[in-house]
Amino acid sequence: MPSLLIKNADWIVTQNAKREVLPNASVLIRDGVIIEVGKASTCSADDEIDARGKIALPGLVNAHTHVSMTLFRGLADDMLLQDWLQKKIWPLEAKHTDETCYFGALLGCAEMIMSGTTTFVDMYFHMEHVAQAVAESGLRGFLSYGVIDLFDQAKARLEQDNTRKFFEYVQALGNPRIRFALGPHAPYTCSEDTLLWAKDFAEKNGAILHIHIAETRREQADFQRQHGMRVVEYLDKIGALSKNMLAAHCSWLTKSEVGLLAKAGASVAHCPVSNMKLATGGVAPLPEMFDAGIVVGLGTDSASSNNTLDMFETMKVCALLHKAHRWDPTVLNAQKVLDLSTIDGARALGVGGEIGSIEVGKRGDIVLLDGRAPNMMPVHGRGTIVSDLVYSASSGNVDTTIVNGDVLMRNRQVKSLSVSEVLSKAQEAALQLVAS
Ligand SMILES: [Zn+2]
Repeated sequence: MPSLLIKNADWIVTQNAKREVLPNASVLIRDGVIIEVGKASTCSADDEIDARGKIALPGLVNAHTHVSMTLFRGLADDMLLQDWLQKKIWPLEAKHTDETCYFGALLGCAEMIMSGTTTFVDMYFHMEHVAQAVAESGLRGFLSYGVIDLFDQAKARLEQDNTRKFFEYVQALGNPRIRFALGPHAPYTCSEDTLLWAKDFAEKNGAILHIHIAETRREQADFQRQHGMRVVEYLDKIGALSKNMLAAHCSWLTKSEVGLLAKAGASVAHCPVSNMKLATGGVAPLPEMFDAGIVVGLGTDSASSNNTLDMFETMKVCALLHKAHRWDPTVLNAQKVLDLSTIDGARALGVGGEIGSIEVGKRGDIVLLDGRAPNMMPVHGRGTIVSDLVYSASSGNVDTTIVNGDVLMRNRQVKSLSVSEVLSKAQEAALQLVAS
């Protein structure tokens, strides 16, 4: 595999344990792995990127999305969550085909490459075709088939078979960038048997278990009415919590539920933009989660409830939401928010030793940002770079996106996909879904 030298970056935001920001520094990647970080390298490489004027940061981790839903972008805004689902999203989803999911996924991958995301966690249907799109795009994907049994045993067996088939498909693919994940949709759509089966399958195969938990107040109210306990208390009681769990949303949790998640070693994918847009009302209690030792990543959720897959926007909204909610500007500082979308996101997926920071031995997943754009100026030095990334940067500043040492975008030109072709095919697929 060729080597790549990123040289003379204005700043490298390493996100290592000391959270070092290195001035005028270089990174050398060989065989997909970072082998040098620091001053100008004397080594030569097969390919070089002159990163003067650029800020290098670890590729962003989007810890929760449904990437094929990019085809529904803009179709169902300003609606109540139940109306949104029942009147718009579910009827459209029923019409999805292998092909529409594939082109939706390609569109999402193009958007992620162009906005600095290098790893994402997905849950959806027709997942073989999502995997195909991810393979072509060059991104890293943790992909789960969304299991919904609606408490029907025959449906549960079918969904378990579908999951096993997708597991075998990912294994046969043998692509180290694509990992299988379990995807029981939520405790209100999956039976106890299915939740426990998924937990067992995840543990046996070293996979994460991607699930929606406590997104809305109604979900919690219904749970209390039906089970006499709250959602996380129920999961604890039936033994479904585990360290493999990546729980999306968690917007309506009590302190004791936070404690139960922490005790189990579960991680959380916080989706502030989607939660605000759908007016789920509750705000995930991040400070309490941090105090309890829960690892939290950041997610966009789908482009039909966000409406983008833009992690820069999500970082800024995340910081602002918690400050506004707590009446406290010191809550969630810029460094912590950047952590959520890089190293903490990687840890939430169980791959904190592989990605999430720019360090020797980690995979070469790196994003270069134009540090001399008007919205990034002036430069006040090392102390404000992280603030600039969270509060001032936008996805339009992303210049170069690298995954595993492969350059997926350079000078804003995507190399791994033909964006114009992806756009026209996705447009066609979206129109076909709406018209049929
Ligand atoms: Zn979701």
